[in-house]
Amino acid sequence: MTQTSKDLHDLTVAQLAKLLVERKVSATETAQHFLTRASVHQDLGAFLATNPEVTLQQAREADSRLAAGTAGALEGVPLAHKDIFVTSGFACTAGSKMLKGYMSPFDATVVAKLGAGIPNQYQGAGMVTLGKLNCDEFAMGSSNENSAFGPVKNPWDTTRVPGGSSGGSAAAVAARLTPAATGTDTGGSIRQPASFCGITGIKPTYGRASRYGMVAFASSLDQAGPLARTAEDCALLLSHMCGPDLDRDSTSLDVPVEDFTRSLNQDLVDLRVGIPVEFFGDGLADDVRVAVNQALKELEKLGAKLVPISLPRTEQSIPVYYIIAPAEASSNLSRFDGVKFGFRAENYTDLNDMYLQTRAQGFGDEVKRRIMIGTYVLSHGYYDAYYLQAQKIRRMIADDFQQAFKQCDVIAGPVAPTVAWKLGGHSDPLADYLADIFTLPGSLAGLPGMSVPVGFGAGNMPVGMQLIGNYLQEARLLNVAHRLQQATDWHNAKPQGV
Ligand code: GLN
Repeated sequence: MTQTSKDLHDLTVAQLAKLLVERKVSATETAQHFLTRASVHQDLGAFLATNPEVTLQQAREADSRLAAGTAGALEGVPLAHKDIFVTSGFACTAGSKMLKGYMSPFDATVVAKLGAGIPNQYQGAGMVTLGKLNCDEFAMGSSNENSAFGPVKNPWDTTRVPGGSSGGSAAAVAARLTPAATGTDTGGSIRQPASFCGITGIKPTYGRASRYGMVAFASSLDQAGPLARTAEDCALLLSHMCGPDLDRDSTSLDVPVEDFTRSLNQDLVDLRVGIPVEFFGDGLADDVRVAVNQALKELEKLGAKLVPISLPRTEQSIPVYYIIAPAEASSNLSRFDGVKFGFRAENYTDLNDMYLQTRAQGFGDEVKRRIMIGTYVLSHGYYDAYYLQAQKIRRMIADDFQQAFKQCDVIAGPVAPTVAWKLGGHSDPLADYLADIFTLPGSLAGLPGMSVPVGFGAGNMPVGMQLIGNYLQEARLLNVAHRLQQATDWHNAKPQGV
């Protein structure tokens, strides 16, 4: 096979990895190709930082390992990180003015594992970092419009949002500026942008991937995961992202690393797919309903059986999440005070005024809104009425899933009630909160969930189907998605002009 570098960006992670191992392309040539694409498509707003010197240095090191036969599993394949993972050599802003220009002295665990690893500790997968991707400020948002550094445009229609908070990650993969990206999902931030941009993304079980080096939003919910074009690529990346990191993240699960690619080819005969009645109610747009139903029919053709189930507290997941997440955020974000790192206001009268000015100028509106809500629900007198109550309902939501999993092996439904909306289309933050309705229940329960492209709705915009599994059932979700992708072509569609 001869490979011209002209179309390297159309290849998947699996295909690129193979070409690199066979030395049909070099890591340096591949990195250069994608860096050029990132600069040509700057207008999408997907990248917040690139550093070609660092990228090309990593690529040269990858080429030496490939030549020496000491390559990692994905050696030389390019990757870009959501700007919420600290990454040495690249500034990390978390989409906030508060961290503008912040350089971390170390790599997040996920970054090290996918990259070169940690010397004298372990070898990583060998992927080459292209840069850092735009996101909503501190991952708070559903449209990427809360980024302090401007919005990201959806490559399918540049007048629309890419979803959020991992909007830069989804847009960059859809526009083929990178074969894969990392994202984080607290209440839907991998699944919803993947759905809006027509790509595949998975959030693993809470605790599967280390949170070390991930700028914290809501620590009991935050989870890292990959975004790519295919389920197979997601399986490849996830296999290298996960694993215990007990010394650095106390909520890291002590379960062995799995190779998620191993179970991709199991058949779906008699697989019980639970269809939650609450996910298909009046709030679901017709175009999304039609696309998801079409995909469910495909699963039936592959031998799966659809089983009606109920997740009765689906609606409550919105108020529960918007109490718990802001509560945790208000605590996590107290570290940004102008003293330790990041931005400090220029003019102030005394220490207290420095804190006030720094936080007033450094945080955006949505972040301030959540800090205020969080502080309120945790305050004396309201703690029992809001926070404690929310925690109790959170437990009930998790129990509802366990009831449902007695009747089914996986749960399927829409990722979001509509396709991507217009930039500026949601002027009221509540509209964004309500659109999270289908992703929040799984997040609150800590379950793995993924988004798979299943066709197009209004405005020819992509629609994603969500698959939710029981704890540690990522392999099953990836298997279902992979079989669906082998039987259909939706994931191969490409936006015009990229
Ligand atoms: N849209 C949700 C929020 O704004 C989820 C964000 C996320 O998963 N990081 O909080």
